[in-house]
Amino acid sequence: MSNSKEKLSFFENVNRNFDRAAQFTSHPKGLLEQIKGCNSVYAFQFPVRTSKGFEVLHGWRVEHSYHKLPVKGGIRYSDFVDEDEVKALAVLMTFKCAVVDVPFGGAKGAIKINPKSYTVTDLELITRRYTAELIRKNYIGPGVDVPAPDYGSGPREMAWIADTYAAFNPGKIDALACVTGKPVAEGGVRGRTEATGRGIYYGLREACDNAEDMKKLGLTQGLSGKRVVVQGLGNVGYYASKFCHEGGAIIVGLAEYEGAIYNPKGLDIDAVVKHRKETGSILKFPGAKDIPNTLEALELECDVLIPAALEEQITDENASRIKAKIIAEGANGPTTADAEEILLKKGVMVIPDMYLNAGGVTVSYFEWLKNLSHVRFGRMDKRFEQSAFDKMLQAVEQATGKSFSSFERKEIVKGADEIDLVNSGLEETMTTAYNQIREIWKSNSKIPDLRTAAFLSAINKVATSYVDLGIFP
Ligand code: NAD
Repeated sequence: MSNSKEKLSFFENVNRNFDRAAQFTSHPKGLLEQIKGCNSVYAFQFPVRTSKGFEVLHGWRVEHSYHKLPVKGGIRYSDFVDEDEVKALAVLMTFKCAVVDVPFGGAKGAIKINPKSYTVTDLELITRRYTAELIRKNYIGPGVDVPAPDYGSGPREMAWIADTYAAFNPGKIDALACVTGKPVAEGGVRGRTEATGRGIYYGLREACDNAEDMKKLGLTQGLSGKRVVVQGLGNVGYYASKFCHEGGAIIVGLAEYEGAIYNPKGLDIDAVVKHRKETGSILKFPGAKDIPNTLEALELECDVLIPAALEEQITDENASRIKAKIIAEGANGPTTADAEEILLKKGVMVIPDMYLNAGGVTVSYFEWLKNLSHVRFGRMDKRFEQSAFDKMLQAVEQATGKSFSSFERKEIVKGADEIDLVNSGLEETMTTAYNQIREIWKSNSKIPDLRTAAFLSAINKVATSYVDLGIFP
């Protein structure tokens, strides 16, 4: 782009962040070019006959990086989506996987529709037709490319995709691993639905637990008592709010596209969701102040702002008015590169999307492993663990002469279920990755922020793969 004052596209914003981090590496130019570019962009159109009549729809699948296979990334259903956006999201997926050590390359898909304007039957038809287009060009498969839900899609769509793939690949024993985010009964894993929101909570908690960083921001250590505003009450926003609330934060503001609500004493997230279901809007929630212009919610008085709706919400236009000390990016690309410069000058800490919303892909990885192993996590070892713990308790009882109550015994000897193992794996992943990127950030005073550190961590990991493959010296 010749004029730097022109608005950068989402893809250009991501590339700018890449370039900013790449300057801290000594990788050769060719290797950096290979890491940066999208390896394959598949844009297509397909005809469908929906309840609206005959239509030609547009779809994409972008596979950003083949340094590890399969590639992985969600499918967005949105009438605002374009190729630039899908490419940007595919790039982010590569780096997201690398940051949390999930062994996939990045990808992203999209169908340009407003899903709310179609019937369920229409959506099934569109999803199955889109899947057939991916199969036709080998853009889906357990070892090739594994989609997942994204904005506008969910477990139902993933089940249709798995079923279509299996129908086209009869007898393929690993067919279910062609897509993640499926309902549990269709090969999904427990904990996937809430994984991104739960991961945001673990990541934010880890950041807030660092006394030194909090002191610099003028905040106390710990998530407990922090005032949080959340934009978007979909999958990511709802669960992020719920787990942060359970972790002691106070959700003071919630924004949806119809408007926002604010209550400095705290909002009951489930009550707000119920109210929205009943009235069709989050506005007029008892005890809360209405903010009809939803974008103003981003400027509310709070400690933490979680944008969890869409990209490019915090821009050079509104960044200077943002009062939050921490921006915890739940959505992909909610902060433009120009906005980030303004925020950094104000001393705001941005916990980047590429790290913070990686909980979904982390648990998707667990689902993929489960599908390939054909066994539920915990099935083999739960009872064994229980009996081992029980024997230990008996030994302690014999040695001390004391006996545990039946409640204590039940709590202590409990073997891990699938959900316990998934949440434990997610917590470990988010905690370790945060400390890895923070260490990189603090290792060089010229590294301006956590985003640059996260990109740097990811670039180095992807570069190592290419070097190990012998493609680059
Ligand atoms: P979703 O469709 O479940 O929810 C998005 C919500 O945002 C909806 O409730 C929508 O009404 C609301 N919204 C739309 N425009 C808005 C506006 N202008 N102001 C306020 N609210 C608005 O989608 P999701 O899965 O929660 O995804 C949200 C974001 O998180 C996207 O950027 C997505 O790429 C990213 N993300 C999702 C996952 C996942 O596992 N679902 C994982 C990583 C990243």
